[in-house]
Amino acid sequence: MSGSALYETFARAPLSFERGEGVWLIEENGERYLDLAGGIAVNSLGHSHPHLVAALTEQAGKLWHISNLYEIPGQRRLAERLVEHTFADKVFFTNSGAEALECAIKTARRYHYVNGHPERYRTITFEGAFHGRTLATIAAGGQHKYLEGFGPKVEGFDQVPFDDIDAAAKAITPETAAILVEPMQGEGGIRSFPTQSLKRLRELCDKNDLLLMFDEVQCGIGRTGKLFAYEWSGVAPDVMAIAKGIGGGFPMGACLATDEAASGMTAGVHGTTFGGNPLAMAVGNAVLDVVLADGFLDEVKRKGLFFKQGLAAIADEFPTVVDDIRGMGLMLGLKCAMPNGKVNAALRDQKVLGVPAGDNVVRLLPPLVISEDEIRIGLDRIREGVKSLAPATAAAAK
Ligand SMILES: *Cc1c(COP(=O)(O)O)cnc(C)c1O
Repeated sequence: MSGSALYETFARAPLSFERGEGVWLIEENGERYLDLAGGIAVNSLGHSHPHLVAALTEQAGKLWHISNLYEIPGQRRLAERLVEHTFADKVFFTNSGAEALECAIKTARRYHYVNGHPERYRTITFEGAFHGRTLATIAAGGQHKYLEGFGPKVEGFDQVPFDDIDAAAKAITPETAAILVEPMQGEGGIRSFPTQSLKRLRELCDKNDLLLMFDEVQCGIGRTGKLFAYEWSGVAPDVMAIAKGIGGGFPMGACLATDEAASGMTAGVHGTTFGGNPLAMAVGNAVLDVVLADGFLDEVKRKGLFFKQGLAAIADEFPTVVDDIRGMGLMLGLKCAMPNGKVNAALRDQKVLGVPAGDNVVRLLPPLVISEDEIRIGLDRIREGVKSLAPATAAAAK
């Protein structure tokens, strides 16, 4: 046995945290790190949020799991609330983002099947996409590094360049069922689709009877300053996958759809053992209590702008390290002028946690509850980390 008893699939940082408080992660020796990674956009309300702790422990004392053989009131309630605040009419709960995407892809295929078009099963996706690590979702994501060595790619996915709507139009065939897109790519490097592009995708879908599917697993649940990123564009999808932030750290996801899009998902067609379990539903409802409270999302927007302005000043000061700042709300990215792994490690040396992403970006996805003072601390530390990588002459010239 080499190393540990774990699969060697993760290149882990040599850090081990014992507990968390808000935006802080604390090692056993008391060392505190500012968590701007947020468990990769999962810890939407930070660590040990009292309302989430109360919701989970109260539910834990009553009922953990019963399966979907019976009614689960928390599930109905969370579904109703998601429906009330989105384009959707129907919700299917899962345990992860990839499973939410699997449900979305199956929903699109079944929609055409029950409408007399079983030949329509293909989905168009965009380069740089990330939709998960199951066999179907690596095929949807289309990234060679995730597909290599896993046998034939699951059939039914056609990829076009990022934000190339003409290419998407050309890729439509009589077998196309849907177009799948992250309104703001996370793993792909904090790249958003312009509103105009999303509008054109909506028109393409309407004209060709395709389903428009959004993956908001990372950019949803208040991350960009709206409950869902698609709201910025005014373009509604037919199907949407969510996960990460809705669970606040408890594993859960969901697939949302209009009545029409979900029309093929009838009894027995799809299922899950754990999805929508009472513990997950208690936490998901508690996350919404906070995120939907008056003024919460306005604060995310305000804090996001403040953070982005501070980061832009750092990029201006150290252009040999940081090229540009991307993103909106509390979904921000440093487009690096040197390898992003180096920049991320320099931040870690300053006890700030970020997440490397594609396109040579370091992502910052802090808990949405971060305060302006904590953002200031973050900016000071990020500046120190970035400065440590800048050539001495450039820093001295300032
Ligand atoms: C993380 C992520 C997924 C996959 O979610 P898992 O819970 O890891 O399966 C899918 N899509 C996007 C946009 C993501 O960021």
